[in-house]
Amino acid sequence: MSVRETVIAGGSNDDPRDRQPRANDVRNPDTLDEKLRPQKLSEVVGQRATAERLAIALAASKKRGEPMPHILFDGPPGLGKTTFATVLHNELGVDLNMTSGPALDKKMNVMPYLTNASEGSILFIDEIHRLPSTVEEFIYPVMEDFRVDVVLGEGMSARTVNIPLKKFTIIGATTRSGMLSGPLRDRFHMHEHLEFYEVADLAKIIAVNAAKLRTTITEEAAWELARRSRGTPRLANARLRWVRDFATARADGQINLNIANDALAMQDIDVDGMDRQDRRYLETLINVFRGGPTGSEALAATMSIDVDTIKDEVEPYLLRKQLVVLTPRGRKATYLAYRHLGLAEPQTEPDLELFDQRRLFD
Ligand code: ADP
Repeated sequence: MSVRETVIAGGSNDDPRDRQPRANDVRNPDTLDEKLRPQKLSEVVGQRATAERLAIALAASKKRGEPMPHILFDGPPGLGKTTFATVLHNELGVDLNMTSGPALDKKMNVMPYLTNASEGSILFIDEIHRLPSTVEEFIYPVMEDFRVDVVLGEGMSARTVNIPLKKFTIIGATTRSGMLSGPLRDRFHMHEHLEFYEVADLAKIIAVNAAKLRTTITEEAAWELARRSRGTPRLANARLRWVRDFATARADGQINLNIANDALAMQDIDVDGMDRQDRRYLETLINVFRGGPTGSEALAATMSIDVDTIKDEVEPYLLRKQLVVLTPRGRKATYLAYRHLGLAEPQTEPDLELFDQRRLFD
């Protein structure tokens, strides 16, 4: 069964910044990433609780001959939201259409996806938190009763026509579940939150993918790459690819611990897997904002990067590792952040009132 990944209807208001590669390469999967993507549920590594719940829903749907329930996946980029949607489509042998919230900026852009959906197929909507509210409301009856309500005519002569649709499944993916409206969230029957991966799971993914890429890697090198992949399979794949290139260019193509260490050092990935952008974030928070608390907008402006990059790519892992905490007044560096940068921790709370704002613009 086919996968359609293009926008059926044109006219998207997609922000061009979203199409530029970002430093962490987390939001921009490429063809190699596609090649390494698990195709069956049994190939999925980690996320055991989610995988088991999906296996139950899958078995029930197959037995009853009904579409899967609507599913919402949330979690930082690169953790497997698209992978799970692809796996379900393969396991069910149904069509998969892929689109994203920014592409569905008008009702007329959503219509083709709804009317073309085949019985039991999957419609995957990435970045579903970016659907405009008018489009959101338009798909409520789709999710509840498999129908769309179209208003024909205007004023006194306006009437609503109900168009019945085939029964299909909507899979939504979001990096910001908090931005989803309550009514939209409630219309998903399953909510699956994806967590950062354990090192052991990433080491397994790296070993499997090295074999797919016909590269040999020692166990200790695979573990080292795993430890330095920020809990994210997409980054593990990117690190593996770089180390593989490095091994080919500088040695005989085999990846061992020394090669892995040298290759990661050349990319400025430190012993904890943090990259230049992570360290810049911590340095800005500590040196410019005296460790915080400060808002994400101020941090983004000072670093000259998009605030979405900070919220989606940089902060989730730093929060998870407790280098940063969120307080009611904003982000604050913890002693772990100071330690990570090799800095002495301040003894007293920084006094923001006395803080010289001019340093922001140094
Ligand atoms: P998201 O949609 O959450 O941004 P993806 O599903 O595109 O992330 O995952 C990125 C890549 O990471 C996939 O192409 C795949 O190679 C790998 N990956 C993600 N989750 C898993 C997993 N559970 N097991 C093995 N590989 C995975």
